[in-house]
Amino acid sequence: MVCPPAPLDRRWGKTYHHFFNPNWTENGRSNPVRIRSRDGLIVVDIQKDFCPGGSLSVDRGDRVVPVINRLIPKFSHVFLSRDWHPPNHCSFSHSPKFVDKSWPVHCVAGSPGAEFHPLLSIPELAIVIDKGVDPNREAYSAFEETNLAKFLRDRGIDRIFVAGLATDYCVKSTVLDALNQGFETFLVQDACRGVDNPPGSVDKAIEEMKESGASPVRSEVFE
Ligand SMILES: [Zn+2]
Repeated sequence: MVCPPAPLDRRWGKTYHHFFNPNWTENGRSNPVRIRSRDGLIVVDIQKDFCPGGSLSVDRGDRVVPVINRLIPKFSHVFLSRDWHPPNHCSFSHSPKFVDKSWPVHCVAGSPGAEFHPLLSIPELAIVIDKGVDPNREAYSAFEETNLAKFLRDRGIDRIFVAGLATDYCVKSTVLDALNQGFETFLVQDACRGVDNPPGSVDKAIEEMKESGASPVRSEVFE
């Protein structure tokens, strides 16, 4: 079977192809999704160190910023997670191997690299979730050792939409934890980017999220 040509995207002033997910139309998510007052948006780790120029940058990670900025005004409840590590965090290595989940020093609490991307439109009422604050524990998920689940439940939120960096690490862990906590969970695919090391990791992560019950959507289907 020959795949139809992907639609063109000129949002960033250049022409890019959409990521083509053959499952997207199969699961019916091309239909509009109406955002309700009991929906929450979780924006994962849009921090300088994860964007180009940062110490642990995701390739073209900053390109999700305009997509997320268009999503934010649609939601009454916005949560922003951030890696907020102590300087001696257990994941830090001076000779990081990446694939074994050792990383260069990144997102040290209070450092410039830990700041949110300067173009991210942070709403006044957004709740910031700090994670990875324990020097001896890794925390990819925005739910791990945080009050996020309680914040969501206290607000009566039962459906969440996840965007951010990186698809195959912190986004995936956040989505899987959200499902385990009983939230109906959507992955906003074009509002995420991944590390993809080794190659194929992003596709594998998306499959794992879908198999666990997450629904992939694209940002343009939101009303
Ligand atoms: Zn980290």
